[in-house]
Parts: sequence; structure tokens; C-alpha cells
Amino acid sequence: MSLLEIQGLAASYGKAVALESVSLQVQPGELVGVLGPNGAGKTTLLKAISRTLPSQGTLAFQGQSLHGREAHEVVGLGICHCPEGRRLFPELTVRKNLELGAYLRPSRAEVEADMEKVFALFPILRERLEQVVSTLSGGQQQFVAIGRALMGRPRLLLLDEPSVGIAHRLKIEIFDAIRAIAASGVAVLMAEQDAQNTLRVAERVYVLENGRVARQGSSAELAGDDHIRRIYLGV
Ligand code: ATP
Repeated sequence: MSLLEIQGLAASYGKAVALESVSLQVQPGELVGVLGPNGAGKTTLLKAISRTLPSQGTLAFQGQSLHGREAHEVVGLGICHCPEGRRLFPELTVRKNLELGAYLRPSRAEVEADMEKVFALFPILRERLEQVVSTLSGGQQQFVAIGRALMGRPRLLLLDEPSVGIAHRLKIEIFDAIRAIAASGVAVLMAEQDAQNTLRVAERVYVLENGRVARQGSSAELAGDDHIRRIYLGV
């Protein structure tokens, strides 16, 4: 059984169709990329999964339908959504932002232990723990956003363009950390526009174009696909 099973998913904004008959699976611990141009429907797909946007079609997590569930119930089931634009609390410290990611779990010792796991991925956050988030660099803020999502102990992490607007050096660090998260057993579904890095770290990739899956396959397959090479890799 897939961890996440999506069949024939559709979503619209009024009369504008954003997703049409999307089918996609994620296995436990798998790192899956979703590539596509602006407006392809990547954000809409992640919002449909986290139930922050209504949708039609099959949407199941660990065999249970997500339809009819509220967004907070979906978090309780083990899906954490790290949205585009990070949505941190900019005037609070790194520590407070991370702690807020664990709000469903009151145990102080567990929270401390989970924070150590975040520091193992992003060592700079340990040094900046008492710093106000608005004074961090964009890349460091992205570390906090991913760290906060991990504090919720997800089984599936939804990442919306984690590398957008981030300097090249930190991008590499972010993609490597995402790979490490998946290697630790947390499945990741990541929407991205950076095709090169996505194909480098993801096991499988779906390409969304105009709200539909235009291509799918292993990263190795897609890296050799003419359409992908021309449109997404620019070679
Ligand atoms: P980007 O990479 O630019 O974030 P995306 O692939 O994430 O793009 P979506 O944000 O999912 O794409 O948008 C899919 C389509 O739905 C686009 O045509 C977009 O204009 C439209 N759309 C998104 N949000 C809304 C909204 N709140 N109201 C109306 N249309 C919307």
C-alpha cells in the first residue's frame, strides 16, 4: 500500500481549473519531486493534500481517505506542509518557531530531542537559536521552515519550492538536507522549479504542465528524456 495515493485529483478556483485528473503515489520514506513551470498547479496539488483547498478524486493517506478532513486532522495523521513563502513568525526567535512546530506534542524532552535532529540537519540553527527569525538570511529562514515542519514528526513532508530565491551554495545544502530527511524514513513530496537539483536528489519525479501530469518516471529516466532536457534542463 502506498503511503499517499492520489487518483484522478481535480481542483479549481471558481471556473479556473488548476488540476485535472492527477494521479500520483508516494511510498514510505520516498523522495518524490514535482516539477513544472509557473502556474502548472504544483502549489494547488500540495494544498489539496494538506486539505487547505477543496478537491475531488481519490486522496488517501495510509489507506484512509483525506476527503472531508480538516487541515489540522491531516497534520495529526502525519502530514506536514511547508508552504511557499515559509510562513514563519518573523518576530519570534528560531527556538520559538521550532517549538511551535511541535505544538501537538507537549513533552519537553521529546521537543528537545527533535530539536537536536533539526540541528543535525542544519547546524547553523543551533548557533542562531535565540535570534529573531526576521534577521536571518532567506536560506536560513528556509532551514527554520523545514525544521519546524519536522518538529511535527511527519510521515510525509510536503515542501513547496524550498529552494526558491536562495543562493546557490545554500540551495545545495537544502537539497542535501531534504535527501537526508527522506533517508531517515520521512517521505517527502517536493514541488520545485530547480530541475537540476530535483533530478539529483529525488528518486522519482512527476512533471506537471497545465494541471496535468505530462511526464513521470525515475530521476534517471527523466534526466535522459528529450522534453525534460530541452524545457527544464536547458540542454
Ligand atoms: P508557481 O510555481 O508559480 O507557484 P504552481 O505550479 O504552484 O505555480 P499554482 O499556484 O498551483 O501553480 O496555480 C495553478 C493555477 O491556478 C494557475 O493558473 C493559477 O493562476 C491558478 N490559481 C492559483 N491560486 C489561485 C487563486 N487563489 N485564485 C484563482 N486562481 C488561482
